[in-house]
Amino acid sequence: MPASILDGNRIAAVIKAEVAEKVKTLSSQGLTPGLAAVLVGHNPASEIYVRNKVKTCHALGLRSEQFTPKEETTTEEMLALIRELNRNDDIDGILVQLPLPRHIDAKRVLFEIDPAKDVDGLHPVNIGLLASMQPGLVPCTPEGVLEILKRSNIPLEGREAVVAGRSDLVGKPVAMLLTNANATVTICHSRTRDLAGVCRRADILVAAIGRPGMITPEFVKPGTTVIDVGINRISERAEFDKYFAGDAKREAEFAAKGSTLLGDVHPKVAEVAGALTPVPGGVGPLTIAMLMVNTVKAARLRRGKR
Ligand code: NAD
Repeated sequence: MPASILDGNRIAAVIKAEVAEKVKTLSSQGLTPGLAAVLVGHNPASEIYVRNKVKTCHALGLRSEQFTPKEETTTEEMLALIRELNRNDDIDGILVQLPLPRHIDAKRVLFEIDPAKDVDGLHPVNIGLLASMQPGLVPCTPEGVLEILKRSNIPLEGREAVVAGRSDLVGKPVAMLLTNANATVTICHSRTRDLAGVCRRADILVAAIGRPGMITPEFVKPGTTVIDVGINRISERAEFDKYFAGDAKREAEFAAKGSTLLGDVHPKVAEVAGALTPVPGGVGPLTIAMLMVNTVKAARLRRGKR
């Protein structure tokens, strides 16, 4: 039986509707949460991401301000901007779109953000709070993964979860969240021996490695829930054929746009998995939804409304 599809668009829409409701209540009390989005230079993908984040803020009734330092901006100038946003009482959340140009010390910039306004949850204080199961701001994509699992009624307690990928942005925080939810968690990475064998132990497999289609059916125990965090753009015809030959919908998209998106999970995994997030339309939509959740949460925590 093919895997059931865990529809991220549907889940994100429900979460966004909940956020809009909360924003309405807060606004009626004179507190409209505000997000500052900082976009350095002209990375086309980053421009699209920030545009979507700002658009979603407005759709849900949040305030948002965009700051667009030039490509040549220095680390010191970025730190000065962050300090100014930290001091600005109208700003509840600060988002610095990554990647930053290479000459900027990204870690210094991210660590300068007031942890109370760190809606991406990447400040060491928030990572520490997550590790010690205290309330704080949780990184958006990992939090989105957990929302998909919980809202799809996938049991976690006592189950074997395997996370492929150990980045600070995705793999490690996903593993912490799964641990906090009482799963038994294994983290894999590029030095893991017999990755396929370890992944086959999973009841819940999270793929966050940034390698197109690498998780093939031999990595997956039948019936496993597979969460595909990867987003990889496929624009070579030969590569497209390797994954999507015979898929009419993808063929039409590839013909029209010259590319399509593929996760870290091979499409054939749908034949073995019990449930699977699609790419696109799986984890991706949750990332923005959780940014909105975090902005409201930051506003409430900062202003003493729990
Ligand atoms: P990253 O490159 O920072 O980390 C990749 C991790 O995978 C590393 O820990 C590395 O050890 C591991 N890895 C790499 N090759 C491996 C291999 N052959 N075998 C085992 N492990 C291997 O990437 P990231 O920022 O964690 O992102 C991972 C993927 O998720 C990317 O495709 C990225 O585009 C995507 N992503 C999606 C969203 C979203 O909103 N859906 C958000 C962030 C990242």
